[in-house]
Amino acid sequence: MKYQKIREIVVEAAKKSNALGLIHGTSGNISMRDEKDDVVAITPSGVEYETMTAEDICLVDLNGNMIEGKYKPSSETPMHTAIMRARPDVKAVVHTHSLFATVMSMKGKNLPTATVPSNMYYPIPTTDCFALPGSEELADSAVRAIGKEGDVTLLKNHGLIATGGDMDAAMTCAVYTEECAQVAYYAIAAGFDEFIPEESALAIHAAAKGGGAV
Ligand code: 13P
Ligand code: ZN
Repeated sequence: MKYQKIREIVVEAAKKSNALGLIHGTSGNISMRDEKDDVVAITPSGVEYETMTAEDICLVDLNGNMIEGKYKPSSETPMHTAIMRARPDVKAVVHTHSLFATVMSMKGKNLPTATVPSNMYYPIPTTDCFALPGSEELADSAVRAIGKEGDVTLLKNHGLIATGGDMDAAMTCAVYTEECAQVAYYAIAAGFDEFIPEESALAIHAAAKGGGAV
C-alpha cells in the first residue's frame, strides 16, 4: 500500500480522537502530510472511525485532488490542504467539533487564557464569521486566523482546527485547546474572570516555542 506509514498515523489518531471524546462519530477529520512528497493522507468523509483501517484512508495532493482511495476524502479537505499550502511547517491537522471549543467559538473572540498548557499556543483566535462546512471561505478564514505562526484556531460556530509538525503535536494542541475552552466556559459561568495575564501567556508561549517545558 502506498504511503502506508502516514495512513496508519491518521487511523491511529482518528481512533484516539474518538476515545478522548474530541470527535464523536465521524464529525471531524484528520490529515497527515508525507515528509518528502506533496501527498496528504486524510480521513474519508462520513466513515466510522471505530472500524477504519489504513486502506480506508484517502490520499490527496496539496490542492485536494484525489490520488487514491476507495471513499470520498473528507469534505474539509480544502481546509486541511489550504493550511498545508500556506504553512510548509505544518505536517498534521486535526479538526474537531469538540463541545467546549464549539461553545466558545460562538463568542467570536480570542479564547481566554484559562489554562497554563494552552498558552503554548497563545493567542488562540476565532475565525471572523461562520462559513459553510467544506467551503473555500471556511478554508480561507482558517488560513487567515492561523496566520504565519499560529497553531490553532476556533472555527466560528463550528469547532476547532489544530496543527502541528507531527501528529502528536497536532493532537496535543487540540486536547489543550478543548481543555482551555472547558475551563474558560466554567469560569465565566461561575462569574470568575481573572485569566492568566497577557505577559505571562506570552512568556509561556515563548518558552514553548523555544523548546522549554510548560
Ligand atoms: P467529513 O466526514 O466529510 O470529514 O466531515 C465532517 C466535518 O467535520 C464537517 O465539517
Ligand atoms: Zn467540521
